[in-house]
Amino acid sequence: MPLPIEWHGLKGVGEGDFRNQRIIVQVWLHTRIGKFFDKTSKTEKKAGYMNVKTIQVGVLEVNSYLVYHENSEDAFLIDPGADAEQIRETVRQCGKQIKAVLLTHGHVDHIGALPELAADGHVPVFLHADDVRLYHSPDNAITGLISAVSGLPETRDDFLENFPDAPRVLHTPGHTPGSVCFYFQQEGILFSGDTLFCQSVGRTDLPGGSSERMAESLDNKIIPLPEEVSVYPGHGPSTSVGTERTRNTLLKKLVSA
Ligand SMILES: [Zn+2]
Ligand SMILES: [Zn+2]
Repeated sequence: MPLPIEWHGLKGVGEGDFRNQRIIVQVWLHTRIGKFFDKTSKTEKKAGYMNVKTIQVGVLEVNSYLVYHENSEDAFLIDPGADAEQIRETVRQCGKQIKAVLLTHGHVDHIGALPELAADGHVPVFLHADDVRLYHSPDNAITGLISAVSGLPETRDDFLENFPDAPRVLHTPGHTPGSVCFYFQQEGILFSGDTLFCQSVGRTDLPGGSSERMAESLDNKIIPLPEEVSVYPGHGPSTSVGTERTRNTLLKKLVSA
């Protein structure tokens, strides 16, 4: 059966490996695949007066995001999953300093560049307390694709409340116990991690996952957001709350169950 995705992220692997990787990636990311994604590497977008720069990193093509106001020297870095040098280069090109790293959850594909970036100088790292065990676990790895990460910096989940220009943290357990979405309310931008994708939702069958909690999170935290809110997921293209409310059949099925 032909696979319904274009997979551009792998270099130097044979066709057999390439095909296997594609299947693994599909199975890993989603409970079921809807419309999949085009590569969106280094696309700069402007939503409100907030700039969102997408840096696609690692074999699972995690969307690492650099988020900043034009007039500020500081940027938030969301989910530095791999490729520290590519992330550094993007930060340099923007002329910004990273003021905090925000993790949507603790899975290994979203944290791989952290040890290298942390060595550049201390910045606070946000991670919900319920994912700290997962974050440090030697089992936080994907066999044959991504090894567990060592030398990770410590994280906190108590510093954003009074932090300048910080997003609201919406706790959205389901994919993992400590999954969160970062909501820049004034700018109408949501970073949804592996909770909500364009025409799909995050899988709930990994350790700590729960389809009941996922349904509650989507119903109580995501569905009520204004329809015009832009959604930047942990993988795949951006979308909006309104589009997903009307076209995402998995989302509709979960919240109506
Ligand atoms: Zn994940
Ligand atoms: Zn992921």
